[in-house]
Amino acid sequence: MTDIRTAPDPPVPSRWTVLSLIEWASAYLAVRGFDETRLHVELMLGHVLTLKRIQLYLQFDRPLTPQELAAFKLLFKRRLDHEPLQYILGETDFMGVTLSVGPGVLIPRPETELLVETALHHVNASGRETMHVLDVGTGSGCIAIGLAHQAPALTVQGIDISDDALTIAKKNLERYPDLHVTFECADVRAAALPAGAFDLILANPPYIPPDEYAALEPEVRDHEPRAALTDDEDGLAFYRVLCARAPRLLRQGGVMMCEIGHGQADAVTSLAHAQGLTVREVVPDLAGIPRVVVCEPSTPPAEG
Ligand code: GLN
Repeated sequence: MTDIRTAPDPPVPSRWTVLSLIEWASAYLAVRGFDETRLHVELMLGHVLTLKRIQLYLQFDRPLTPQELAAFKLLFKRRLDHEPLQYILGETDFMGVTLSVGPGVLIPRPETELLVETALHHVNASGRETMHVLDVGTGSGCIAIGLAHQAPALTVQGIDISDDALTIAKKNLERYPDLHVTFECADVRAAALPAGAFDLILANPPYIPPDEYAALEPEVRDHEPRAALTDDEDGLAFYRVLCARAPRLLRQGGVMMCEIGHGQADAVTSLAHAQGLTVREVVPDLAGIPRVVVCEPSTPPAEG
């Protein structure tokens, strides 16, 4: 990235304390066009000192040791290189669970919580004791673990083709050993999944078309896994596969819910119709953007 500064660098403080470091580092990032700089600096410093933000506020005058400064500097340089804060901190929150994240796995997004919430409503409204759920392209395992954490009677199978993602998903599951969640390496495009086995299919597939991918912010484009973001086609490749396969994979009465990208609702609805699926609902996110497509086979699939 070209280093375009909007103002001169802030003066280096004469003493490094919690407060002087927070102020200097925030200003240094802000001059380089970063957002939410104070929040990010406080979270990075809190990570180094193993203190919560509120505790930092109670220790503003604490002098920092050379070791603490050196440890902060390592994180700060990564942020200056536009590495996402969640990778630097090594974790993020999603649907009330704390998940490890790192390079090789997509950072869970707030819009994906809408997919999990929609699934949760469906599960609760069904009155069913348990359901078999398939999470296609599980990544960090956020959908599988987030949903099962809220509805522990569910059995959730998360699949992904990325070994890096599966390693992180399995690590994340270790924190929740009582959940009925499994992760395995499988490709929804291949034929290995059992027919008629699932009550619910969930997917947040790579849906960004290549031209939009090129315009993404460096945090995403240069650091998150490309294969989790773009299909390198038209952004719809995985919906074609999912819609084609859902009627066979779903049990009678089963439903599929997919997160979609901005402006994809009509195209995904057409793809669903073309495969004999009825679109039951398109749920908008908090910004009013159609974000989750809920569909089901129009005619009951054959059992077995
Ligand atoms: N919502 C993500 C983003 O805009 C994309 C995730 C995906 O392609 N499934 O960065």
